[in-house]
Amino acid sequence: MLAPKTNFVKIKCECGNEQITFSHASTTVKCSACGKTLVEPTGGKAKINATIIKLM
Ligand SMILES: [Zn+2]
Repeated sequence: MLAPKTNFVKIKCECGNEQITFSHASTTVKCSACGKTLVEPTGGKAKINATIIKLM
């Protein structure tokens, strides 16, 4: 198993908005366009409720 790394990911909300977030976000990240919760902190790697377009 690889050591956890901090990465940024580009994600796309179901509304079509794209934004960049931290893959280990410690706070909830919401879509800047529609307000949907896209990333939920879990204590480790965040749960991402959006399409991951690419790792930064
Ligand atoms: Zn959205």
